[in-house]
Amino acid sequence: MKVVLIESDQESSRVIQYMLESRKETVYAFSDADEAWNFIETTPNIDVILTSLATNGMTGLELCWNARILADQRKGLYVIAMSESDDAELLVEALDTGADDFLQKPLHEETLHARMRVAERMILLQRQLVHLATRDPMTNLYNRRAFFEQVHHLIDQPGQREDLCAIMFDIDHFKAVNDTYGHDVGDEVIKTVATLAAGHDGILARLGGEEFALVTNGLSILQASRVADLLRREIAETDIRLNKSTVTVTSSFGVAIYRPGESIDELLKRADMALYKSKNDGRNRVSAERPRLKRASSAA
Ligand code: GH3
Ligand code: MG
Ligand code: MG
Repeated sequence: MKVVLIESDQESSRVIQYMLESRKETVYAFSDADEAWNFIETTPNIDVILTSLATNGMTGLELCWNARILADQRKGLYVIAMSESDDAELLVEALDTGADDFLQKPLHEETLHARMRVAERMILLQRQLVHLATRDPMTNLYNRRAFFEQVHHLIDQPGQREDLCAIMFDIDHFKAVNDTYGHDVGDEVIKTVATLAAGHDGILARLGGEEFALVTNGLSILQASRVADLLRREIAETDIRLNKSTVTVTSSFGVAIYRPGESIDELLKRADMALYKSKNDGRNRVSAERPRLKRASSAA
């Protein structure tokens, strides 16, 4: 696990670091809580924060509080507070402020290791819960709710967003696949389409039934349409072999580009309208929304 250790006493810091490293933890040690906090905020995948309550810079309790807020977005961040004091009030305050656990200093190696094992179990459990809540169990793609969350996150970060396009696609005549080959084969077809789509960059979700969405970042609508067309061909050219039958399916695509200020629903609605056009025009094709006409004021 990746552990951030905040301890202003150099000697204790060294000892704790040694104890953690004997458990093969990767330790980032800080004596100053502000510096540690900068590091935590900018470094993803930190698993455990082990902080003394008496620190330089922000107090240990403030750090616990900030970490709790951060853990709401970054599920599976575990905070252990430590203090020389055995004051019950301080323990209660630390736990109420956001610590998951409390250790009295000086730390005992066996105890620290046992607490780290608890941390590991809790982190794993949290991440499993997040996985269950955000993924479609059949395809492992994002479910609708998580997809909206991820796209919101992308839109809210101005520095990171360039052109953002939504590609919506839907398997053609899928009802006939189910009717002809059975529901189980239908499921395998959905999984295969999901796997092919996952080969492309972007935020990908199964929105429902046999309908998917891929949001690309940094591609023009023309480039996004090319991605869609590549995936369209990949799907159409894939033989899905199941038991005695080999099934091939096609899919129809609709592409739209994000207009600053609009909601994700509005973007998807336009992608869906383009998809509807693909269905109407004969399926197994890509349609992009028409670009908005810029009216020249001098036009006659
Ligand atoms: P179109 O080309 O217009 O998209 O026709 P379609 O038959 O694909 O569309 P329609 O929406 O009528 O049918 C979708 C079918 O997908 C109906 C539903 O029973 C089936 N379906 C939805 N979810 C699942 C699933 O998880 N597994 C399987 N096997 N079928 C599903
Ligand atoms: Mg369909
Ligand atoms: Mg459909």
